Amino acid sequence: MVLKDVKTKKEILRISETRGMYPFHTWKPSASAKSATAIKTLTVMEAHACLGQIVPDAVQKLVHNGVAEGLNVNLDAPNEDCVACIFG
Ligand SMILES: [Zn+2]
Repeated sequence: MVLKDVKTKKEILRISETRGMYPFHTWKPSASAKSATAIKTLTVMEAHACLGQIVPDAVQKLVHNGVAEGLNVNLDAPNEDCVACIFG
């Protein structure tokens, strides 16, 4: 998966998907134990963690711009403190 900025066409980040899972999982959501469906809807904070701790604002921007194809993000979910960012 490659994320690009729609306006500048610049590559923002490239993610190698392994068996449908993103390789870096540093942040474990506390309320997550639902069984995985085909396309999982992430909270902004989950997406933030999956995308290598990019700022939540950037997550929202990506979703709004339709850049993050195949990524379902629930923008209504409240932003939470990210443990990885606080202690990282
Ligand atoms: Zn974080």
